[in-house]
Amino acid sequence: MDRLQQELSSTDPDVPFRATDKHVHHTWARTFQSRPELYLKPRTLPEIQKIVNLARKCRKRVVVVGCGHSPSDLTCSSSWMINLDDFGRVVRVDQSKKTVTVEGGIRLQKLNEEANRHGLTMRNLGSIDEQSIAGAIATATHGSSLRHGLLSESVRSLRLVLANGQAVRCSKEQNEDLFRAALISLGALGIIVEVEFEMIEAGKIEWEQELVSLRHVLDTWDTTLWTQKEYTRVWWMPYMKRAIVWSADKTSKPLRPPKETWYGGSVGFHTYHNLLWLSNYVPWILPTVEWFVFGMQYGFSVGNKTSAVEELRTGLLMNCLYSQFVNEWALPLTKGPEAINRLSAWINGEAGGGGIPFSSKGLYVHCPIEVRVSDTSDTVCRPYLDNTYSDGPTLYLNATLYRAYLQDPPCRARYYEAFEWLMQDMGAKPHYAKNFAYVSSDYLKEKLGDGLEQWLKVRNEADPDGMFLGEWHRRNLSASLGPVRFALEEREIARTKARDGGQLWVGEVASSVGVPETFNQTPLVLTEKDGKGSPGASSSTSSFDFMHGAEAQSTLWTGSEVLDDDDDTEGEGPRYHGNPKKTFTGTAVFDKM
Ligand SMILES: Cc1cc2nc3c(=O)[nH]c(=O)nc-3n(C[C@H](O)[C@H](O)[C@H](O)COP(=O)(O)OP(=O)(O)OC[C@H]3O[C@@H](n4cnc5c(N)ncnc54)[C@H](O)[C@@H]3O)c2cc1C
Repeated sequence: MDRLQQELSSTDPDVPFRATDKHVHHTWARTFQSRPELYLKPRTLPEIQKIVNLARKCRKRVVVVGCGHSPSDLTCSSSWMINLDDFGRVVRVDQSKKTVTVEGGIRLQKLNEEANRHGLTMRNLGSIDEQSIAGAIATATHGSSLRHGLLSESVRSLRLVLANGQAVRCSKEQNEDLFRAALISLGALGIIVEVEFEMIEAGKIEWEQELVSLRHVLDTWDTTLWTQKEYTRVWWMPYMKRAIVWSADKTSKPLRPPKETWYGGSVGFHTYHNLLWLSNYVPWILPTVEWFVFGMQYGFSVGNKTSAVEELRTGLLMNCLYSQFVNEWALPLTKGPEAINRLSAWINGEAGGGGIPFSSKGLYVHCPIEVRVSDTSDTVCRPYLDNTYSDGPTLYLNATLYRAYLQDPPCRARYYEAFEWLMQDMGAKPHYAKNFAYVSSDYLKEKLGDGLEQWLKVRNEADPDGMFLGEWHRRNLSASLGPVRFALEEREIARTKARDGGQLWVGEVASSVGVPETFNQTPLVLTEKDGKGSPGASSSTSSFDFMHGAEAQSTLWTGSEVLDDDDDTEGEGPRYHGNPKKTFTGTAVFDKM
């Protein structure tokens, strides 16, 4: 820290350096923990720039964490960790363009609440709205609708603080390369400090969920399943060979809450949790648990339906219940029936086992397997790291495994190895945020193709020292990153079992490194057209080379302040997502899948 004190003493005391060395970071699912050397919560753009400039001077890796909802080690660091929860204001609302411009730390929930005040709302959401806007964009977060693509398809422009401390705007019209690299950045490009997001008019949806047979899902796959309503998602119950199909359309009908049941609150929540825990010791009960738990909530006979009318911004959400591993892959929608039939055959131990070369004997998995869709085929400005399909709709298969009372289920390794084998056999691509573990960087290189090369070119020019690179990036992208570690790249040196489950991740920034060849390439030239910024933004030069402009913001450094320890995933234990409502048996968690 001597070096830091030395550097701090020569900086402007009017720009605070809000940091603590007492923070323990953990993912929402408590799958990973790490102890950053410094945890920083800036409130203004100059503070963010000061952190980046100091990190560069002190030779630190910087990782930004949103709310830690990515269950992998993507956000783990022993170096400097920035959280933008205090940098999440609305900057402006443009009614004519239906856009809301916000600071990068805003959570989706707050963004939607603020937008609603102006009669606007996000056009699509995933299962939850707790993520930060920048974090959600960074990992290609999606919902489930063939009329929508990734959440990032609504991003009209971005502003990033790059490794040299400069704040740069980008959009389809301005610095397009940087924009396409930033639309899915995996946190490895710079710090997203501002997002201009396109909304639609606020409204309501009427949703309906129905228990159907798996055969019905497969029979209607190519006809009505995904197209009859704007939003559709499917929960596949692998042992019952049934599914719950949730679908919704916009409506002007009056709000109508879902019917309350005595089982849908705490009773159902704790029953399933305890049965999952028991199944860690007696795995063969899982098919019966699936029948009982989902039968109690959604009915024991096919054809059972429930429905409700809710605001779009809450109606799309659901409760994700307990700590969990998630392993989600994207493949062309047309391959869905084959993928489901093969996985079903393997899970149920049927002849041929779906052609998956691992035994499923004695192995029992959790329900549900989520089946969702998106369509990015008409997306004009595609992210370089796009993991969807440009020539048709994309299907997502998500193998969920709950960690009852934070305990890892015994089936995890064999199930995920087999599932990932199948996904790769079918040419699928993993969801970046999730717990994939059996993929080589060569496979990813092949599947991400040219886009990955383009992304790396922009990334390496924007961050030549690897200030934003960590072990996750090295592990998954090494075939393209090259063999030489970057000067500030953080590598994993230990991983131990954490006290409350999950793994404690320890890293270090490489001390002696070579210089990657990419440094010799011609730097990208970025232009800053309007020079306007969010409150506190420093002015930028009108045209600059961002690799060589490293000292441009040097006058902004300084100040020192200590924060209380806090938690970027807000609390522990069971969490209630998706517009939770109190019912007479506790918070409704099972009323909607
Ligand atoms: C209960 C639950 C439900 C989920 N549902 C869905 C779903 O329906 N669909 C789906 O696709 N995904 C889903 N996810 C995954 C989730 O959307 C992603 O993990 C998302 O990235 C989490 O956002 P976050 O703010 O927590 O970011 P984090 O997990 O904290 O960070 C994710 C990445 O973003 C980077 N990052 C964060 N902030 C910035 C910034 N300001 N600038 C640059 N980089 C930044 C980080 O460095 C990291 O690389 C779900 C996850 C959970 C736990």
